[in-house]
Amino acid sequence: MAEPAPILSLQDVTKRYGAIQAVDGVSLDLADRSFVALVGASGSGKSTLLKTINRLVEPDKGAILLEGEDIRRLEPHALRRRMGYVFQGIGLFPHMTVTENIAIGPRIAGATIDAARVGALLQLVELDGSYSARLPHELSGGQRQRIGVARALACNPQVLLMDEPFGALDPVTRNALGRKVRDLHIRLGLTTLMVTHDMAEALLLADRVLVMEQGRIVADCTPHELLAGDGGSTAQALVAVPREQARALAELAG
Ligand code: ADP
Ligand code: MG
Repeated sequence: MAEPAPILSLQDVTKRYGAIQAVDGVSLDLADRSFVALVGASGSGKSTLLKTINRLVEPDKGAILLEGEDIRRLEPHALRRRMGYVFQGIGLFPHMTVTENIAIGPRIAGATIDAARVGALLQLVELDGSYSARLPHELSGGQRQRIGVARALACNPQVLLMDEPFGALDPVTRNALGRKVRDLHIRLGLTTLMVTHDMAEALLLADRVLVMEQGRIVADCTPHELLAGDGGSTAQALVAVPREQARALAELAG
């Protein structure tokens, strides 16, 4: 049987900033409803690559297809409706309430969402309606991040792009929110691409892990393959970190 067509297809995507080759000829197909983690050291090009997918950054070269259609031919608002984006460092507007932050995507796209829809989105991220009138500074880090996810889902996207969504959170909140996003991914039938520098998080949440180094994808493996030692030296150096922690903890415990 033929493979189903990918929902997203990147073809030789390239972006240079002066002398820095931020993204260097990345080609990649994402299967519909897959949960893919993009891992790599700081500066390896993860955010730049993610931004090219929803046209926050225009590549110098290459193309990106959404369900077979070149995204340059899609109207930007239509594109943003189909792809939710959770920004690195939260990115809520500080002077807007939770409701206004959640509604910003639909508003830019020329639509409005009512209080019931805001309530439903808050419920998706397990916050009750009483949060709707709060300002971002009146929320905990974990709550702000949940609002970031709710905002990304406000337009009912097919694709969820997340840039280090849990980076600033304490480990317990981070773990719980990771599970929650994984549940939402399945329940809403999303295709999710999550940038993280944390290999443990990638291994625990994703079905497929991409490792980026100096603008290139240097490994493309399942968590199982990575744990079995595949993916090459850069990937294995990242896998060694949580593995060593687990070993040290097991030694302490036993
Ligand atoms: P990551 O998200 O993996 O930390 P980035 O995609 O943010 O990496 O950055 C990749 C490289 O491109 C880095 O060297 C960074 O300094 C550079 N870079 C990113 N954005 C810009 C920009 N707007 N202007 C100049 N250089 C940039
Ligand atoms: Mg980044």
